[in-house]
Amino acid sequence: MKKLVAATHNKGKLVEMERILSGFELLSVGEFDGGVEPIEDGETFRENALIKARSAYDCSHLPSFGDDSGLCVDALNGAPGVYSARYAETPKECIKRLLRELEGVSDEQRTARFVCCIAYCDGETEFTVEGNCEGKILFAEDGEGGFGYDPVFYSFDLNKSFGKASMTEKNTVSHRARALDALKEKLGVLKK
Ligand code: IMP
Repeated sequence: MKKLVAATHNKGKLVEMERILSGFELLSVGEFDGGVEPIEDGETFRENALIKARSAYDCSHLPSFGDDSGLCVDALNGAPGVYSARYAETPKECIKRLLRELEGVSDEQRTARFVCCIAYCDGETEFTVEGNCEGKILFAEDGEGGFGYDPVFYSFDLNKSFGKASMTEKNTVSHRARALDALKEKLGVLKK
């Protein structure tokens, strides 16, 4: 089975990745010496994903991929974007800040999307793929499931908030699942 190194230490993400990338032996960068998390100082999801993929390849010398994701809100010109995790001190504070920034913005103008970029690197080939998930930002939290901005994100695919969606439902439409599907498709092409 072809080995693939995921540039993440997050167990939850690894489980999701393993499910979608069946057919590959998935390893975590944490299993390799020097597999520390690099500084994500890129200005785009793509730059950050490439930083992670290259760093994982550098310490494993095996085909590697890294992902970077976040929430882009149209009325805020794409913010919080790459700063999604650092928008405030805690995830709850991030939601509070987001709702504050959107005060006075109407329902129709609260459109947003989760974006996930995945970069692949094997020393010879390098490419990126992206997955999006469209929706809008609610006026208040709805549901307690998921993580990060899930309670205030209303998914147009599911017609409910991610906070109210089950893990299985979210995984059928999520930006990460879509980017992983795109990665799998491209890797299938590479194998031939
Ligand atoms: P990461 O690059 O996947 O670690 O995501 C960076 C940040 O984006 C997270 O800390 C969250 O704030 C936000 N984010 C990314 N994906 C999701 C999601 O599926 N639900 C809620 N928030 C997310």
